[in-house]
Amino acid sequence: DYRRGGYHAVRIGDTFKNGRYVVQSKLGWGHFSTVWLAWDSQRSRYVALKVQKSAQHYTEAALDEIKILKQIAEEDPDDKKCVVKLLDHFKHSGPNGQHVCMVFEYLGDNLLTLIKYSDYRGVPLHMVKEICFHILVGLDYLHRRLSIIHTDLKPENVLLLSMIDPSKDPRKSGASLILPTSKNKIVAESSSSKEIKSSNGDLTRNQKKKIRKKAKKAAQSCAQKEASSENDANPEDSNVDAKSNEDPVEEQSNGSVIKDDSANSDGPKDACQAKRGRRGSRSTRQKLLAAADLNCKLVDFGNACWTYKQFTSDIQTRQYRCPEVLLGSKYSTPADLWSFACICFELATGDVLFDPHSGDNYDRDEVILTGSLGIDDGTSWHDAAQGGRYSRDFFNRYGDLRHIRRLRFWPPTKVLMEKYDFSEQDANDMTDFLVPLLDFVPEKRPTAAQCLSHPWITGGPRLLEPSMPSVKLEVKDGNISELKEEKDGREAM
Ligand code: ATP
Ligand code: MG
Ligand code: MG
Repeated sequence: DYRRGGYHAVRIGDTFKNGRYVVQSKLGWGHFSTVWLAWDSQRSRYVALKVQKSAQHYTEAALDEIKILKQIAEEDPDDKKCVVKLLDHFKHSGPNGQHVCMVFEYLGDNLLTLIKYSDYRGVPLHMVKEICFHILVGLDYLHRRLSIIHTDLKPENVLLLSMIDPSKDPRKSGASLILPTSKNKIVAESSSSKEIKSSNGDLTRNQKKKIRKKAKKAAQSCAQKEASSENDANPEDSNVDAKSNEDPVEEQSNGSVIKDDSANSDGPKDACQAKRGRRGSRSTRQKLLAAADLNCKLVDFGNACWTYKQFTSDIQTRQYRCPEVLLGSKYSTPADLWSFACICFELATGDVLFDPHSGDNYDRDEVILTGSLGIDDGTSWHDAAQGGRYSRDFFNRYGDLRHIRRLRFWPPTKVLMEKYDFSEQDANDMTDFLVPLLDFVPEKRPTAAQCLSHPWITGGPRLLEPSMPSVKLEVKDGNISELKEEKDGREAM
């Protein structure tokens, strides 16, 4: 993918936008981009820099992503809606073409990393509920207020916020601020003026001095904050080796690029499976605990669309793809709720809900469809199964599966108890929340707003356990606000 139209080869110390952003380390990657921790020398803070592949298709997707991100930010000035904030954007020219770059607030680990910290055994239920609550706040905002469908919800696209201080170095090594490398030349284009500014990437001695001074100041203020807050966990643990095992490319400090061809759309999942069953190390358990103050945000709006303006019928990552999309029928906001339910199951159990392998006589999509029918014990899917562009590939004209004759009902409560050691109460409660979201018929799935008032969420630790949150919150019309009496009561104590 490091060729014309593909990724831009970024090296530690590279600068972007005329020296403003200095690359520190790699945060993650996706099929559209690589994402880097960068130091914003103008505002003295760490940011996440997403460098998109350069082919026209990716550039158009990035420009749509920016449009959607701007709309998202405009309607959420108080930053309460659990969606990532876009800070800046510009274009960067390199040997592989011109790359749209997006600058985001720096966030923490993605949920796949959190699942990894649990050694694929599932994270504690109170954390699952907490995360689900925040995802639902984000979805409710996108769906009801903005008519936006995310269309690519998966654990990698939900990031934790815990313990983030943007002025503090989040890297595990605690290495000092990396200054721009001297040999790189950059050509940056300002997104607003569209005026090409060609410049040498080197910063002057004065600029370097300024960066060092700002970094030192930021570090000092962080040290003061840390000293004053006993309960603060170590922020350096908050974003370590995210997806590092699945990374397709590794940047060497000498600037060479190692490629790993194993990257494909199912890659991260396969890597997860391979590691399942290993004993939990102390450090992974500690990282899980360290993430316990959970708050999270939705990221990656590269495939998002509006309910009234859709770009493609080919949406979602396979394991999180809903039946209507598999069948080539029309889709809307319930598609996100399906993916949300898959994430919820995966968080709670450590297992991907629908992780299909193709057999002799059926393909992977058919396996997902069959699995979803196994959860839905109703018969209403017969109608929903018809009418999609690919319906005939899977179903005959009576609405029965073509290749798979016997469908065994999969009682989720039993599976949660027998396979995942849930107590009967926990299994019943979670099934009650989850199964309606996995309805084959999209219109029958609850909305994000309805989910937010489900007892599985409202009865979660946020509202029940006084030791967890510092204040109690309530959700009204999709807005999170502090419960007045509770706050007053607590302050009086
Ligand atoms: P996809 O293949 O899912 O379409 P993509 O190329 O669109 O991916 P993103 O999902 O936006 O890229 O980002 C890739 C990864 O980079 C994320 O999974 C996450 O681990 C990391 N990342 C993205 N944004 C941030 C951020 N603001 N802070 C920290 N890490 C981030
Ligand atoms: Mg992504
Ligand atoms: Mg994306």
